[in-house]
Amino acid sequence: MRVLVTGGTGYIGSTAVDILITKGYEISILDDCTTGHADTAPAGVSFIQGSLLSAGDVAQALVGVDAVMHFAGKSLVGESVEKPDLYHQVNVDGSRNLLDQMHASGVTKLVFSSSAATYGEPEQVPILETAPTKPTNPYGATKLAIDQMITAEAESRGIAAASLRYFNVAGALKSSRGWLAERHNPETHLIPNVLRSTSDNPVKVFGTDWPTPDGTCIRDYVHVVDLIDAHIKALESLAPKIHEIYNLGSGDGYSVREVIAAASKSAGYQIPTLDSPRRAGDPAVLIADINKAKNKLGWVPTHGIEKMVADTLASIS
Ligand code: UDP
Repeated sequence: MRVLVTGGTGYIGSTAVDILITKGYEISILDDCTTGHADTAPAGVSFIQGSLLSAGDVAQALVGVDAVMHFAGKSLVGESVEKPDLYHQVNVDGSRNLLDQMHASGVTKLVFSSSAATYGEPEQVPILETAPTKPTNPYGATKLAIDQMITAEAESRGIAAASLRYFNVAGALKSSRGWLAERHNPETHLIPNVLRSTSDNPVKVFGTDWPTPDGTCIRDYVHVVDLIDAHIKALESLAPKIHEIYNLGSGDGYSVREVIAAASKSAGYQIPTLDSPRRAGDPAVLIADINKAKNKLGWVPTHGIEKMVADTLASIS
């Protein structure tokens, strides 16, 4: 089976490419490399450096393809608040173009990178897939709009689709081409920032007065390798005319201070930190209910927070 991986040179997409190849899939990549890195693309794969917004680029990328894993898109909450139009254009218009080109090319299978940001501030945790969707930022709104487009596409054109709503993805994968890891600039995510913290430039703890046991935000972290395992299980379980939505996390929560403690243990020294004001738009607690993915896909995440921290540390050492 040939899989088109959009965003296949980014952190999560490049990990998907590597694991899919190991499992015997043929791969095509479409990426404009605005945030991805062309050097992650393995030699010999079909790699089109092009735009999701270009009908020609997407049509070319779809040649000979049986299914699409759609990772390409803008993914920073803070940036989305500053540039909502850019997020709408790249994420929503780009996905619209992808769906139209899939239809034109007769490609009917899709696994999409959605987000827990579609839920917004949860009324209940753990969060179920049936929870209300009230995104609190443009990034989450674009992911929800795409999920809704895919539902309509399954109903009207009969595609087989799954949206995977990621909680906090972390960790890294050592490939034959070196570590595939987060290489964002600037880096906004907690674990890489914690592991790069120095006494001159300590990692900021965004808010110490949240209504949680230690006053810092709680998130649900899932290792990128477990995440891709769920993508493959979702791909293999797709059914025509059905759009399934699955939460992907670990089902467990860690506070910012607990992540820092795990990182200090892994690094072998106390990570320097600076207590700082809350970051705008952060909910206090986000934890996934992952029973649907466990029960319907037979998926079980196996890498804990220690492994996520250790792999990230190894990738930047
Ligand atoms: N966070 C922090 N310092 C940082 C980056 C993040 O305290 O340098 C906190 C952030 O406020 C949130 C958690 O760590 O509570 C996870 O943030 P991240 O940006 O990694 O992921 P998000 O939950 O925003 O998707």
